Amino acid sequence: MTQAADHDDDLSIFEKSCAYCGARFRVLASHGPFADHPEGYSCPECGKQYQTEAALEPEVRLLTPRRDGKQDRYQETMF
Ligand SMILES: [Zn+2]
Repeated sequence: MTQAADHDDDLSIFEKSCAYCGARFRVLASHGPFADHPEGYSCPECGKQYQTEAALEPEVRLLTPRRDGKQDRYQETMF
């Protein structure tokens, strides 16, 4: 195997605080040439949906548990 730099899996990593439950999590979004499109990911604690530009479904890692002391799941109230 060569040690050549692999530009095929560029990652953008950012941290996010959930607006609903206050949990902090890290989002790893991979990017490919001409492959980015809106991809959904959800808060690991309450399931609230977010969206970012990525080539694949982003990976989410919990950093800090939720701070609202509840156990409920976020419910979209769009209907
Ligand atoms: Zn949440």
